[in-house]
Amino acid sequence: MSAKKPTANEALKQVTYLASALKAPRITEAAARLADHARDAGWTHEEYLAAILDREVAARNASGAQLRIRAAGFAAVKTIEEFDFDAQPAIRQQVAALASGGFLAEARNVVLLGPPGTGKTHLATGLGIAAAHHGHRVLFATATEWVTRLTEAHRAGRLAQELARLRRYGLIIVDEVGYLPFEQDAANLFFQLVSSRYEHASLILTSNLPFSGWGGVFGDQAVAAAMIDRIVHHADVLTLKGASYRLRNRGIETLPSIRETADRDND
Ligand code: ADP
Ligand code: MG
Repeated sequence: MSAKKPTANEALKQVTYLASALKAPRITEAAARLADHARDAGWTHEEYLAAILDREVAARNASGAQLRIRAAGFAAVKTIEEFDFDAQPAIRQQVAALASGGFLAEARNVVLLGPPGTGKTHLATGLGIAAAHHGHRVLFATATEWVTRLTEAHRAGRLAQELARLRRYGLIIVDEVGYLPFEQDAANLFFQLVSSRYEHASLILTSNLPFSGWGGVFGDQAVAAAMIDRIVHHADVLTLKGASYRLRNRGIETLPSIRETADRDND
């Protein structure tokens, strides 16, 4: 450094230049804003530096999360905070634990079961957004869309590469398992997706059918049983109950599909 001590203003100018060279614009802003506060509060040099770097890192993490949320392909952005747990009190604790993201590090799965309109897609999305905030890459699509993607990869002779690429995503969400039954080829491709992630990376699945109804979706009880076995081995299974949240306060208590599901359960 030069013999002459730079004034605070000169030093901040230099910080501005250096922060822009580092492509860390929040450092400029934080350095100026925190300087007086640091002097008043008697911070050490180390504490001041840590506070400034913390602002830059927090801002980078937040914009990283926004990028991951945009890239995930959610049908609608819905958060756990927006979920009304008074409508589903039994799962409040479980969802709170899952939102902390620990299940992703252990490559555990989450299965959300329940009738239409009870919040399965909302919760799957909310957990996906929480995962993005925890630094995980996330992809969301319906079961039918996943099968289409895998079928295209298979036809192009690059199914193995596609499954390997998907394993780099910490979380894959498969919405609406059971809305449409699968052809046998599709069921086999879906089974490969489940196998490829087993004990490597997490899945969240939603379904309006109980597990006992999955055999009909996959056309084959043996394929369904092998798949459910892998999904549920390390999984939290949350069962949502009650009438559709969409129809609450509308005087409509039951949908035809709810009765159907209830009847099937009673078989
Ligand atoms: P499902 O996937 O089970 O059919 P959705 O998650 O799509 O249901 O929920 C239907 C609509 O109702 C969505 O707009 C969702 O945000 C809302 N919803 C459902 N349950 C709740 C809840 N408990 N709190 C707030 N919104 C809810
Ligand atoms: Mg849904």
